[in-house]
Amino acid sequence: MIKRIFITFCILLVGLIGVLLFNTFRFNPASESSKPSIAINKYDTAALHLSQALQIKTVSFGDTLPIDTAEFIKFRTFMETTYPLMHQKLEKKSFNLFSYVFTWKGKDTTLAPYVLMAHTDVVPVEAIAESKWSYPSFSGAIDKDTIWGRGAVDDKGSAIAIMEAVELSLQENIQPNRTIYLCFGHDEEISGKRGAAIFSKWFDSSNIKPALVLDEGGMVDTEKFKATGRPVAVVGTGEKGYTNIDLTVEIPGGHSSTPMKETAIDILNKAIVKVRAKQMPALIAPPVQDLLNRTSAGESFFTKMVMANMWLFKGSVIKKMEASNQTNAMVHTTLVPTIVKAGIKDNVIPSIAKATFNSRILPGQTSGDVVAFVKKAINDERVIVKKQTISLFEASATTSADHPTFKKIEGLTQQVLPNVLVSPYLVVGATDSRYFRPFSESVLNFSPMQDVKGFHGIDERLGKEDLNRMITFYKLFIQE
Ligand SMILES: [Zn+2]
Repeated sequence: MIKRIFITFCILLVGLIGVLLFNTFRFNPASESSKPSIAINKYDTAALHLSQALQIKTVSFGDTLPIDTAEFIKFRTFMETTYPLMHQKLEKKSFNLFSYVFTWKGKDTTLAPYVLMAHTDVVPVEAIAESKWSYPSFSGAIDKDTIWGRGAVDDKGSAIAIMEAVELSLQENIQPNRTIYLCFGHDEEISGKRGAAIFSKWFDSSNIKPALVLDEGGMVDTEKFKATGRPVAVVGTGEKGYTNIDLTVEIPGGHSSTPMKETAIDILNKAIVKVRAKQMPALIAPPVQDLLNRTSAGESFFTKMVMANMWLFKGSVIKKMEASNQTNAMVHTTLVPTIVKAGIKDNVIPSIAKATFNSRILPGQTSGDVVAFVKKAINDERVIVKKQTISLFEASATTSADHPTFKKIEGLTQQVLPNVLVSPYLVVGATDSRYFRPFSESVLNFSPMQDVKGFHGIDERLGKEDLNRMITFYKLFIQE
């Protein structure tokens, strides 16, 4: 009997090893097709133009705070004088004064159009941080090979690179094959409600369905994926959703000298702790699986075996990813309290306490799942759980790595960056392009800048080499 069990066990074990090895040898993480790289031109005046753009303070201060319209008018004039052909030959539409859509008619209007996007607003620089900058934050200083200033990376670098590529192509009398729309939003840093939300509606109501929308989000990294031995370009092929969940507790308050057993603040406090104690179920969304697969090129045989046999190793991969905040956000819908409000006076127990949780939703889960999770975690009817309807976005659909638009971006990136490994990834933030997702065939987030530093922080800057590469990339994109 024991012998029979032992033999059965051995057969199962050999079978398992066979399956693992079969999958591993069949596993092909990196894509085979590789386009030869081309020489990158030097566009010396482009650095000067970016410098000028960075000196204009097109700051989005906050959702309810006014912008300095004089600066946005200055930026408009800068665009008109620096890119005259773009303004003469393309049709321009303005939305809420400072967001613009340019239409560049293609040779073949039967083809679905492309959209190139970038935003022209920037986040503010805190007064306390200003002294820590190597060059004043709005100086646009050019030091040898680098252009310094708020917005160099996010996102005036891309905006300038797109406009340079368009202007140069127009100088060369190039007309794109298919129609290209250039979209420049002016309030991406404060949700895009006045810019991209509005002009995307114009696309939708005009029945314009882009084959591809290319926006900020992905970049090239030579530091995070050392094992590949190659620069890795991560192209956003899907975006997490966004929602806010309000918790409200309303029970009679009173005098603070004779407190009751539980106050509104106590109940809310316990609810917050309960929600934070657990995470929503982990999930490996397709863009994350693609990223894991592709970046395992160059890794050990064992790592490849793990990737090739996720049916068996998924649990341990997720556990490893949960160890850091960055990778945890790739396998979990996150939930974190960002606003807590209660109380008006030190000796009054408030009768109402409120908290807002910000949640970023993984593809495969919904805002409804988030609400259900929060209610179950709290399990207390005194806490009213409600999802905000404004600024709610469900997680996006995913563009497959086999989709022609991904292949296009992959090919262009290989042309401007030798030896690059191009991989899909999941965008965990939120960009203007999300407004296009409901009616576009494909949305990708990428610009070929490498190891960028300082965006939303101190010493934001972009190398001339990056800018030249980006212009070349967009020129190739246009000429397709
Ligand atoms: Zn941005």
